[in-house]
Amino acid sequence: MEKNNLNQSASGLKVAPVIEGPGGAGSGDDLASGSNIHDPGGVLGRTSMTISCLLDAPDTTEAHRKNLRKVQGIIGRIAGSDVKVVVETTPNDRDGLSEGLVAYKPGTGEVLLRIEEGCEGRLELVAHELVHVEQFLDGDWWYEDGEVKGRDIWDEVEAYQLQHDLNYPDGNSGSYDLRRNPVAGGGYRVTPQDVRDLYDVYGDLPDESRSKIV
Ligand SMILES: [Zn+2]
Repeated sequence: MEKNNLNQSASGLKVAPVIEGPGGAGSGDDLASGSNIHDPGGVLGRTSMTISCLLDAPDTTEAHRKNLRKVQGIIGRIAGSDVKVVVETTPNDRDGLSEGLVAYKPGTGEVLLRIEEGCEGRLELVAHELVHVEQFLDGDWWYEDGEVKGRDIWDEVEAYQLQHDLNYPDGNSGSYDLRRNPVAGGGYRVTPQDVRDLYDVYGDLPDESRSKIV
């Protein structure tokens, strides 16, 4: 089970002080030192290395390669942007859910990407949260008058679609729904209802797109 939650705002979150590593994005990564990404645990660097490894492997399917390149592209876009992104890991609460979230840190102008410890290696979970960071770059959601605005169910549909696709390296994601039940005839795509059915937290997200950029 995964739980991914773009918080309405970072207020109310217990945000730990960010300790910046010497490499900016952590050790062993290919992101520019001193970049806009502060990732002391090296989560994105390791994600990037995992993707490189999978792209190198001859048995990686073309469908999987496409999705891996998508994730790699998002990391590259973030690294090349002027948006400050802080990547944190938090202690695993062992509630059976692999949790991640993206939030905005008021006062700092930073976008926070948080992953539960031990889940950093779950590419599909990190990818889900990276989609939310990219949505911020695209103006799909923003921070204004003290709150996060622009969130809609389609932001989650997009993030869950990539997560779902990455869960099927054989390229067979259309043959299973979001809960991994077989879909007769295939061709499955993530729907707003399927996302809402996963967790209550998505219940209030509106159907209509609220992006600044249409
Ligand atoms: Zn999400």
